[in-house]
Amino acid sequence: MAYSFTQVSNYLRCPRSYRYRYLDGWKEKETRAAMVFGRCFENALGAYFRGEDCGAALFQEWGAYRDAAFEYRKGDTWDRLVHQGVHLLERFAQDNRVRIHSPKTNLQIKILQTLTGGSEFVSYLDAIGEVDGVRCLIDWKTTTSRYPQDPEGLLSLDPQLICYSWISGISEVALVVFVRKHAPEIQYLRASISEEQRREFGRLVETTINQIEAGHFNPHSGIRFPQNGCVSCSHLGLCLNNEQLVAANLIRKAGASDLDWLDELVD
Ligand code: SF4
Repeated sequence: MAYSFTQVSNYLRCPRSYRYRYLDGWKEKETRAAMVFGRCFENALGAYFRGEDCGAALFQEWGAYRDAAFEYRKGDTWDRLVHQGVHLLERFAQDNRVRIHSPKTNLQIKILQTLTGGSEFVSYLDAIGEVDGVRCLIDWKTTTSRYPQDPEGLLSLDPQLICYSWISGISEVALVVFVRKHAPEIQYLRASISEEQRREFGRLVETTINQIEAGHFNPHSGIRFPQNGCVSCSHLGLCLNNEQLVAANLIRKAGASDLDWLDELVD
């Protein structure tokens, strides 16, 4: 079995949801415009670092979805997203704070680790490069709201960055956040992940996988006001036996998808 950060975090959020998704094959339909746009934007960033026309790359990638039946957030449209994207790419080039040497090898880096017991853990790091002259692993995010920065050090608790630090052994991490709002903004956030955090994450991965392989899939609904995890869970229709919700949100495919890492591109 190969596991990923998305799988482990899905199990920790709700083991029953994990079973629906990865054992029974109920996958969320890809209807969120923001998620697909985030993937197109990442490809345009790749073009930027290869010295190509990144605006044209974004138009080409996102152009393939011009007539797709996506769900857009309030006020968003296909055109609005592409204009925000081009604006962000221009701002990113002007800022000139990120360097990627050898983009062919330092973008979308696949790292595989064999775990005790023979399972594998796979991660795709967005990039390894320099942010403000400091070598670090880099994660891109496209979002509509700023990443919270207070209190100081908050980013060092980000589980996805800890995971990437654990699998790569790189302690310096950075999140480059492309904020799609009326006046687009880019946040360049850096943090250090300690050796202890990496060790703890490794233990968390091992114990989580033990639970999965032992077949423990109890629901973890967390139905208490105000944070009801079930409301945003794509598997809610299965838990409620609501066929309408199932048809609206899910498609069924056999087994786990090897494209799961794509879920990690946007929040
Ligand atoms: S609806 Fe709630 S209990 Fe059911 S899978 Fe989702 S999070 Fe778990």
